[in-house]
Amino acid sequence: MKIKLPKQVNQIIHTLKQNGYDAYAVGGCVRDTLLGRSPMDWDITTSALPQQVKRLFSHTIDTGIQHGTVTVMLDYEGYEVTTYRIDGEYEDARHPREVIFTGNLVEDLKRRDFTINAMAYNDESGLVDAFDGIGDLHKGVIRCVGNPNDRFQEDALRMLRALRFAAQLGFSIEKETKAAISELSGNLAKVSAERIQMELVKLLTSDHPQEIRTVYELGLSRIFLPEFDRMMETPQKNKHHSYSVGEHTVHTLQEIEPDKVLRLTMLLHDVAKPVCITCDNQGQNHFKGHPAEGAVMAREILRRLKFDNDTIDRVCCLIRYHDDRPELNPRNVRRAMSRIKIENMEALFAVKRADTLGQSLYHREEKLKYIDTYERMYREILEQEQCVQKKDLAINGRDLIAMGMKPGKGLGNVLDALFEEVLDHPELNTRERLLELAHNLTTRLI
Ligand code: ATP
Ligand code: MG
Repeated sequence: MKIKLPKQVNQIIHTLKQNGYDAYAVGGCVRDTLLGRSPMDWDITTSALPQQVKRLFSHTIDTGIQHGTVTVMLDYEGYEVTTYRIDGEYEDARHPREVIFTGNLVEDLKRRDFTINAMAYNDESGLVDAFDGIGDLHKGVIRCVGNPNDRFQEDALRMLRALRFAAQLGFSIEKETKAAISELSGNLAKVSAERIQMELVKLLTSDHPQEIRTVYELGLSRIFLPEFDRMMETPQKNKHHSYSVGEHTVHTLQEIEPDKVLRLTMLLHDVAKPVCITCDNQGQNHFKGHPAEGAVMAREILRRLKFDNDTIDRVCCLIRYHDDRPELNPRNVRRAMSRIKIENMEALFAVKRADTLGQSLYHREEKLKYIDTYERMYREILEQEQCVQKKDLAINGRDLIAMGMKPGKGLGNVLDALFEEVLDHPELNTRERLLELAHNLTTRLI
C-alpha cells in the first residue's frame, strides 16, 4: 500500500533515516489519508531521542520534551516528532507515572488508543498495522488496542475520544469497547475539564453530532453534563414538539452548520426546560422563562467546562434570545438588533431555523416564513445603515460637552435618551437634529 506523504514529512523521515534512526508518519494522519480525508496535521514517530532529533534540524521547538515530543519547523509549518515510547503505569486514570523511550515501533503503537489510530507508514516499509486498523477502517469500527477495560482505566478520556471519533468518521463502537465504556464511565470524573472540552467540541462540530446521544446512553454525559441527562428525561407534551427536550436538542444539532458557537448553542438552548416545566389542566407542558434561565445555566456549565469568555458570551446571548418573537415592524427589529448586537443576528437566525426544524410540523411553514421576514427586515436596516448601536449616533459625548454640558452621569442619560429616540425614528440621526434634541432635553431636564 502506498500513501502520498507531503514533501516535508518525507524530508523529515529521510533525514532521520540517513542518520541511522527509524521514522514513520503515525496516528491520525495515516488514518485520515487512508480514508481519503485530508489530515489536520502530520505526526512523526521515531527511534531517535529528542536531543538527537534536535541536533538534526535547524529549527525546532521543545513542545513536550519530557514526553519525547519535539516540533520540527519546515517551510513555516510545524511537524511533531515524538520518540517511540511506552507509557509507564498510569496514576489516577490520567497521567502516566513515567514515560519510557523504546527502540521498538510496535511498542509505541501498542500505547495508542484505537486500532485505526495505531498505524504507521513510511515509503520504505509501507504500512505497519499490528492491530488490524485497516480491517476496522473498512468495517467502520472504533476498537481499543488491547483490552478496553485496561485501556480506559489507564486514561479515562479515551472513552469520550471513542465517541468523538465515531462522530467524526460516522463509525460505530465495537461491542467490547462499548461495554467497557458503560462499565467505566464514572472514571471520566477524574479527567480535567480542559481535556473533556476539547473532545466535546470535536464531537459537536463533526458530521455526526447526534453521537451526543451515545455519550448519554453510555453514562458519560452524567459525569460532565448531567444537565443533558435531565433534558433526555424531560418529555414535551405540546403541539409544537414531537420529541423529548433531549431528542429535540439532538435533532437541532443536525440542522445547523458545524460551528463551535452554533453547535454549543443548540446543545444548551433548552437546558432550562427541565427546571421550567409546568403542566396545564389539559395535560400540556409549558416552559415559561426557559431562555433567560437557560442563559444563566449555560454560563455556569460553560465556565465549568473552562470555555473562553468570548464563546460563553456569544452562546449565552443566542440562548437568551433564541425564542424571542417580536412583532415584525422596523422599530422592533432595530430594537432587537440593538439588544442582541448586529454581530449575533445571523447566528440567531440560524439558531431559530434549526430550532424550528427540530420541532413538530405544527405551523412549521409559518414559523420559517416569520424567520425569513425577520431576516429580510434586518438586512434592509443594515443596508440603509440605520443606527442600531449607540456608537453609531451622529453625535457623541464630546459634542455635548462642546455644547456646554458637564461630563458625567447626566450626559450619559442624554445620550441614552437620544439613542432611544433614534431607534424609533432613524431619520433623526443627523448632527443638527440631535444637537437640537439634546438642547431641548437639557433645558427640559434643568
Ligand atoms: P485529530 O484529527 O483530531 O488530530 P488524531 O488521531 O491526530 O486526530 P490526536 O488527539 O491529535 O488525534 O492524537 C494523535 C495520536 O496520538 C492519536 O492518533 C493516537 O494514536 C494517539 N493518542 C492521542 N491521545 C491519546 C490517548 N489519550 N491515549 C492513547 N493514545 C492517544
Ligand atoms: Mg492530531
